[in-house]
Amino acid sequence: MIQEINLACMSGQGSVQAMELLSKAYFIRHGYFVKSQVFPGPRARSAPVVCYIKISDSPINSISANYHPSEVLVFWDGLFRVVANDAHGIVSDAIGRLQSGLFVVNTPLPPEDVDIPFAFSGTIATVDADRIVTKYLRRDPPPVGTALVGAYAAVTGKLPLALLEGLMRERFPGNNGQRNAEAMQEAFETVKVERGYRSRSSKTVPETDPIDPQSLPEYSPIEKGTMRGYTQGGANILRAKIPVCDDNRCLCKGVCLSEAMCPDNTGFIARWTTADGQKRQGYRIDVDYCRGCGTCAEICPYGAIGRVPEREVLATNPTYEGITVAPFWKRGD
Ligand code: SF4
Ligand code: SF4
Repeated sequence: MIQEINLACMSGQGSVQAMELLSKAYFIRHGYFVKSQVFPGPRARSAPVVCYIKISDSPINSISANYHPSEVLVFWDGLFRVVANDAHGIVSDAIGRLQSGLFVVNTPLPPEDVDIPFAFSGTIATVDADRIVTKYLRRDPPPVGTALVGAYAAVTGKLPLALLEGLMRERFPGNNGQRNAEAMQEAFETVKVERGYRSRSSKTVPETDPIDPQSLPEYSPIEKGTMRGYTQGGANILRAKIPVCDDNRCLCKGVCLSEAMCPDNTGFIARWTTADGQKRQGYRIDVDYCRGCGTCAEICPYGAIGRVPEREVLATNPTYEGITVAPFWKRGD
């Protein structure tokens, strides 16, 4: 068996902490194998973050995003509008793939008033986590993860509250852990649940299909068989878009800020001389490692880097010509 749980939030709302808590609790309580990972947004604040938890009674080898979640924790009900507008592919995927199962939502609304903008039937639980956490912890934005975990424990009955509170106190000894535990307990006691919820919408969210490994393109500059990292043959892709540089706008002399800020050291400035002696430069990535976070595009002062849906790139440029080059440690320069 394998169970997938997605946590979708804006950064600062405590999803990583909630992911750690749930992962440890499933391991301790049930002895399951657990794998958890985070898809980070480009900025420290105001960017979406999605956490994926996989739980299984056998070892988990996959590092993919969760394509078949049975439970989704939504840390801000505004993320449903993000899904409705398909404004962020990763968030749409993380939330919109749940067509039956359990939603736990941070909102003051009762479950029947939550408007899920796609076809969903199942259980919906709501908890006013912003209000609860603000009462116990003075932080902006309130780190609502613990409250959502408390609500999750109440509605599923899979994890004892005492265990979760103990893990919280262990993680944050002293007052901070105590206040988080109190917030968790209040969420546990006040969560509202509707089983048999059906959304009014019959829309289906367009899915970012997991790429079929059999349909993989030949990667030209990087030898086949050496691919590791997120794409790992395409099947484990976590990114929706990749950076593509317009070399005519790549104008910095010296340091490339985008290269300096790439969190994975996988984007870099390439410089070369054309056959007729002109010096050129452009931003290139190692397609095997780029996580598609968009930091490079955000930071580039000349707007040289665009973010293009990977499916479009694969349709028109399957070898990533002009986008990828072998990383420096393979180029040997
Ligand atoms: S990619 Fe942007 S930041 Fe980097 S050198 Fe080119 S223009 Fe400058
Ligand atoms: S090259 Fe990829 S991983 Fe690096 S900043 Fe750009 S999008 Fe993010």
